[in-house]
Amino acid sequence: MFKISKSDYVLGVKCPNAIWFKKFRKDLQQELNTAVLEQGTAVGELACSRYPGGIRIDAMPWEQAAHTQTIRAINANAPYIYEATLGTKAGEYCAVDILQNNNDGTWDIIEVKSTTKPHDYHYLDVSFQRYVFTQCGINIRNCKILTLNPEYVRHGDLDIQELFVEHDVTADLQDENIVATEIARIRTVLNGPELGIAIAKTKCNKFYECGYKCHCWRNIPSYSVFDAFKGALADEIYAAYGANLANVPADLRDKQMHAGDIEAFLNDTETINTDVLREFTDQLKWPLYFLDYESIMSAIPMFDNSKPYQQICFQFSLHVQRSPGAGLEHYEYLHDTAGTDPRPRLIQKLIETIGDTGSVIVYNQAFEQGRNTEMAQAFPEYAEQLLAINDRMLDLLIPFRNRGMYRPCQNGSASIKQTLPAFVPEMSYANMGIHNGTEASEQFMDFMKGKQTPEQTAMMMQNLHEYCGQDTMAMVKLLDVVLETLKQ
Ligand code: SF4
Repeated sequence: MFKISKSDYVLGVKCPNAIWFKKFRKDLQQELNTAVLEQGTAVGELACSRYPGGIRIDAMPWEQAAHTQTIRAINANAPYIYEATLGTKAGEYCAVDILQNNNDGTWDIIEVKSTTKPHDYHYLDVSFQRYVFTQCGINIRNCKILTLNPEYVRHGDLDIQELFVEHDVTADLQDENIVATEIARIRTVLNGPELGIAIAKTKCNKFYECGYKCHCWRNIPSYSVFDAFKGALADEIYAAYGANLANVPADLRDKQMHAGDIEAFLNDTETINTDVLREFTDQLKWPLYFLDYESIMSAIPMFDNSKPYQQICFQFSLHVQRSPGAGLEHYEYLHDTAGTDPRPRLIQKLIETIGDTGSVIVYNQAFEQGRNTEMAQAFPEYAEQLLAINDRMLDLLIPFRNRGMYRPCQNGSASIKQTLPAFVPEMSYANMGIHNGTEASEQFMDFMKGKQTPEQTAMMMQNLHEYCGQDTMAMVKLLDVVLETLKQ
């Protein structure tokens, strides 16, 4: 008899292959992201403090001791039971984050999620919990998902009541019969042989990107119908013609938003649209300031005047070119004091160096403009200057996104990680100590939490200087390519 946990249930509802792999192909398991796990644990512990005076079940959910402790706590009429754990005779088991005693013979399930709203798969998770506890004879009245409150702004000590928000999802859960049917289907899969792989963009990316894509998608070309077409249309075309774009009829290829990308790929040609490029360059005002931010974010706000998951800028790089053909100047700020808010000193340095005239060139302006707007709200004394920077912003992504220039090696993407190697192949992130914004953010967060040795911090600082500087230098070079193309 297979034991089925709540994560097994969610995975099995998403895809039968996935639950089969989880049980029988341990070699395909992806490493868990420890930073995400640690964050979930921290949020869970804080959430429990919102419901004080309860009993914690400390045995692991799959151990009989957890069930015994839970029954004992229920019989003791505890006001709350943290990690309350029960299992059915058939082998389904789960731990409930917080079981709340209604003191009338009924109990509420409170499931803590470190998101800012409930997601689809959270409802599956809680449906399974209600099923298991009901099967075990517990009278469940209401089910709630407790998330972080996206509107909460920290001022001083954390306000635990305001930091979280309860969502009553009782009426939105799967009923018991549906859960029982899904469990039976999962058990049939687990008792059978490996299934034939049936990939689909809408399934494999449903809820979250499936961790088994490295296996199931291993024969999909690096640029395929799944890159060129959106959602369900990609699945339809794949079912009819396979993943290779060469097999897709021309009339269907034209349905793609950037049909020229497919033709460029099939014919190995590049696209140049000088009207699109000129529309961008006509807006340039000298001097040019090339700006890039690096940021961290935390589920639990670390600093005053910040919200859950707010991006906190800790570094900027600024390359400046004062006139056409002039040499480059470079300015930067990298916060170097662990545990303190990087924003005040970063803002001051930015305002000192970015002047008050000339274009501020960024790549994907939604990010930098968003950060400036948030910093203007958090530090109103700098609001005027920060919002004035936004008014000067020009987004270098736009001429590439609008296919002013496109090369097949971009695989349908206009992100700077694709356009840079396509047009400036001598510049690469491959040999750098930090390769992308996620790595920058994770390492800096370790520094902020005091988790690094001095040697690690020194290395990280050097890598961050190089990485963020490369991002702005990449924009300088890409704009050069655009300007040179227009001269030809
Ligand atoms: S990659 Fe897709 S087909 Fe493979 S296990 Fe995941 S969801 Fe299922």
